[in-house]
Amino acid sequence: MAESILLVEDEKAIRNAMAEFLSEEGFEIYQAGDGLEALEVFKKETPDLIILDLMLPKLDGLEVCKAIRQKSNVPIIMVTARDEEIDKLLGLELGADDYITKPFSLREIKARIKAVLRRTGFQSAAEEHKISFGPLEINTDRREVKVNNKVVELTPSEYAILTTLSQNIGRPYSRLQLLNATLGESYAGYERAIDTHVSNLRKKIEPNPQKPIYILTVYGLGYKFGDNYESNV
Ligand code: CA
Repeated sequence: MAESILLVEDEKAIRNAMAEFLSEEGFEIYQAGDGLEALEVFKKETPDLIILDLMLPKLDGLEVCKAIRQKSNVPIIMVTARDEEIDKLLGLELGADDYITKPFSLREIKARIKAVLRRTGFQSAAEEHKISFGPLEINTDRREVKVNNKVVELTPSEYAILTTLSQNIGRPYSRLQLLNATLGESYAGYERAIDTHVSNLRKKIEPNPQKPIYILTVYGLGYKFGDNYESNV
């Protein structure tokens, strides 16, 4: 889905030029010509980023920034003129993420937008698919597993078993189901191969592999993911 940008700028020629350029770049664009309109459009459309001119009719950029910050962490890029140095700093204090000084090229504003979106995107844990189970953390975007904040190297089979089991806490999976989950990598065909993978996986992620809290054995069937991570001592 396209990221949306709210352009707040009272100079119509500048606003139109930016709007045209940025929609061609694939962004969805909302526009506002003064501070009050900016707050209205923001509330209605909840854009992914705001480009906010400092000098605006009705409510200036600093006031708009302050008002938005009271209820949202949406990235804000302030636009200032050369002689507004002090206000620029104030803007950052009020929670703007970046600023750009007029006159600027369209290419420059695009680079700032991308940088701010990338930076703020990284801060939001919800954007990255990270799941924690006590000290165990699985990041499915990076295919990275951590225990107590330290990265644990898993083989593709071990990773597949872990993510399959942890998708449904407490639900038992047969060895055959787990084998299917690892297929493509392990076509040895023996369900018992799962036991070896699980044993290796436990050594890597369990506080005590002899008394697992994450990968639990379901006798006569297979394995399941545990739901009590405090019980280990
Ligand atoms: Ca202005």
